[in-house]
Amino acid sequence: MNKVYIGLGSNLANPQQQITNALNALAELVGVSDLQVSSLYASKPMGPQDQPDYVNAVACFNWQGEALDLLDKLQAIEQQHGRVRKAERWGPRTLDLDIVLYGNQVINSERLTVPHYGMQERAFVLYPLAQLSPELILPCGTKLADLLTKVPAGDLTIIN
Ligand code: ATP
Ligand code: MG
Ligand code: MG
Repeated sequence: MNKVYIGLGSNLANPQQQITNALNALAELVGVSDLQVSSLYASKPMGPQDQPDYVNAVACFNWQGEALDLLDKLQAIEQQHGRVRKAERWGPRTLDLDIVLYGNQVINSERLTVPHYGMQERAFVLYPLAQLSPELILPCGTKLADLLTKVPAGDLTIIN
């Protein structure tokens, strides 16, 4: 069993509802127990600016299974919630579910990089993560609290 952290994001088709629906889908997955969820946050888009603001959250649960099985299940939930994969990077999407941390493991495979490669720079990951686990230490030994001093919250606001 591994304690995993998932970053959720949406900026299309009622983003707040998308996140709530995704959290319900996660809670119902076989293999998931002890689900906890951060507040929901509003954030400005990364990359292309001609798209709506995002709603983000981080969820944490105990996962009984393989890492790639979890990725499969997350991608299935993304598809079920109408995600259309486009060539444009960081374009608008109904739902994005990223594995931020997978226990204390470091994974570098074709489909999976964990810890998520962008987590150390992304306020919309770090602040909700800190709500769930303020004392968290990354597999590399970096303290989450130290990252927070380097990454300003900026436009990030709690909405719910
Ligand atoms: P970013 O990765 O910068 O947040 P994104 O989430 O929009 O961008 P996606 O299109 O959702 O990117 O994912 C592209 C690929 O990333 C997926 O097909 C998946 O195999 C791979 N991937 C690698 N590491 C992870 C991870 N930790 N969590 C989720 N997907 C990952
Ligand atoms: Mg992402
Ligand atoms: Mg993704």
